[in-house]
Amino acid sequence: MATLRQLLVSESKFNIKCPYAMVAEGYCVHNTANDAPAENEANYMRNNDKKVSFHYVIDDKEVIQCIPENRNAFHAGDGVNGNGNRKYIAVEICYSKSGGEKFTKAEKNAAEFIAKGLKAKGWGIDKVKKHQDFSGKYCPHRTLDLGWERFLNLIRGYLGQATVSTSPSKPTTPPPQKKPKLTVDGRWGINTTKETQRFLKTIVDGIVSRQPTSNRNYLKNAFTDSWQFTSNYKGGSAMIKALQRLIGTTADGYFGKNSVIALQNFLIRNGYSVGKYGVDGVMGYDTVCAWQKYLNAH
Ligand SMILES: [Zn+2]
Repeated sequence: MATLRQLLVSESKFNIKCPYAMVAEGYCVHNTANDAPAENEANYMRNNDKKVSFHYVIDDKEVIQCIPENRNAFHAGDGVNGNGNRKYIAVEICYSKSGGEKFTKAEKNAAEFIAKGLKAKGWGIDKVKKHQDFSGKYCPHRTLDLGWERFLNLIRGYLGQATVSTSPSKPTTPPPQKKPKLTVDGRWGINTTKETQRFLKTIVDGIVSRQPTSNRNYLKNAFTDSWQFTSNYKGGSAMIKALQRLIGTTADGYFGKNSVIALQNFLIRNGYSVGKYGVDGVMGYDTVCAWQKYLNAH
């Protein structure tokens, strides 16, 4: 604990430095923005005639009191009747200009001093404010640079209280993987089938199995690296059944003219153009493009 001593403003200067009686409501923390020790800061303030003052100034070795706690001080930049200037105990922390070890120690001493005061007055950590809270000035500048919550945690430490996390909490689950973009090329081959299967949550093998050869006429842009057209089509495709349920037609597993019409209507309902021929029951370039765009968006 730093030693405490008094270098009080002389009563002949009370009318300048601390003209009003005060019932303190909290602490207001400052940085001196200087590299001078507490004694120099205290003497400079006491000896000039500026309406600038503070109650305590703290360095790496000591706490110096300049104004009694039952008088106001001018430190908060919020005017003669401001809350900061009329109700708060001003605490200046030295060596903030250059920082380093002396500042670190001064800040610690200030935290310990404030903690002791909070305890004595029965105040909570909410009674500790920064100059910035009153006038918007970026003060205590170095304490803010290093983290205000960190400084409050120093005080909490001296109070024997739990500290508050100062790092942003990391998400516990990774963000969802961005879906790979399907090329909109109007060709329904393996990639479009895989993407359709992923979307419909069926087995992803890139194959549309067991489709009647007779339906090929309606499936102009269905490519045979993916679509299996056969006369032995019994059972059809699980993916097609899922697709038929999505677009609202009979889920028989065979993609024929009615299914193409249902798909085209579905796409139009969802805002995707199926080309200038509209709902024609033929899955050509425009219909496949529309389905690929739909997949990319979902
Ligand atoms: Zn300040």
